[in-house]
Amino acid sequence: MNTTFTLENIIRENVKQLVPYSSARDEFSGNGSVFLDANENPYENGVNRYPDPLQNQLKKRLTQLKGVPPTRMILGNGSDEVIDLLFRAFCEPNKDNVVTCTPTYGMYEVAANVNAVEIKEAALDKDFQPNVDLVMDLTDENSKMLFLCSPNNPTANLYDEDRIVQLLKAFSGIVIVDEAYIDFASGKSVLDKLEEYPNLVILQTLSKAWGMAGIRLGIGFASVEIVEVLNRIKPPYNVNSLTQTKALELLDDEAKYLNQVNGILKDREELSEFLSNLSCVKKVYESDANFILVKVDNAKQLYNFLLDKGIIIRDRSKIAGLENCVRISIGTQEENKLLCESLSEYNSKN
Ligand SMILES: *Cc1c(COP(=O)(O)O)cnc(C)c1O
Repeated sequence: MNTTFTLENIIRENVKQLVPYSSARDEFSGNGSVFLDANENPYENGVNRYPDPLQNQLKKRLTQLKGVPPTRMILGNGSDEVIDLLFRAFCEPNKDNVVTCTPTYGMYEVAANVNAVEIKEAALDKDFQPNVDLVMDLTDENSKMLFLCSPNNPTANLYDEDRIVQLLKAFSGIVIVDEAYIDFASGKSVLDKLEEYPNLVILQTLSKAWGMAGIRLGIGFASVEIVEVLNRIKPPYNVNSLTQTKALELLDDEAKYLNQVNGILKDREELSEFLSNLSCVKKVYESDANFILVKVDNAKQLYNFLLDKGIIIRDRSKIAGLENCVRISIGTQEENKLLCESLSEYNSKN
């Protein structure tokens, strides 16, 4: 099997031939002041014009925050859109396959199914780390992408950088490292590996630490060449103007973001400590995210008890390897207090 990565080898034939859709706003250069080129309504209301298809202002701000140039960034309607774009660029339906390390984020499988791409699952090790040999044993010449979610949802742990690097070297397709929760992690992002590995794609999002799940803004970091391919197939106006404006506004307050992240980390440690002292709790897993995975004596019963109190957690107990496990997001201090009171009550009754 060929183990060197070349973009030419993994890009779909039809995508190779594509020229990007050229929108009205792409087709002029110079300084326009009268725009009669896009059949818009000319009367200003804040949203009467089409948004910038390449989100230049927003990317400029993200460059300041992340240290990655705009040419290495693709923005999507959530990282979920970037995941879908990757499938459409690199995986031939009913022929190619992708590898995931399970248990993990459900959207990889959803996107694979939607795109008629086979999914091969390599179980994580007992400590929820990717098993390099197992992954490589599963791959064949049609394996185009490998998804590594670090910190992983729902197991909450960061992957060893060593293993990520081993896989970047061994796997001949694209390695996607989904860092949706990296802001909460004790270790660092693999963004600094971007230059070195042309097959690396990193996903981040404004949905978690930055508190913007509602506006749908996901970021893909990759080589200039991969970004160029994804730009070719994305819907031209995939990030709407309300999202671009709001993101710029909220990204301005880095102090608030840092404060909230630090607060959530402190509350996570407190909640972990509280949970580990309950007799109904069998194990509190280490977390590098804004949620905690907990093994309890009876997940369904606990879930229903909390539901009855109006507190919704995620029952993950049906997933192989996560028997009797629930996933709990860190809430506000008030919400965490309500949770703890209900957990105490449950604990004393069971
Ligand atoms: C929440 C989450 C995302 C975020 O997706 P968006 O579409 O950007 O909201 C991505 N990956 C994982 C693993 C997540 O848990």
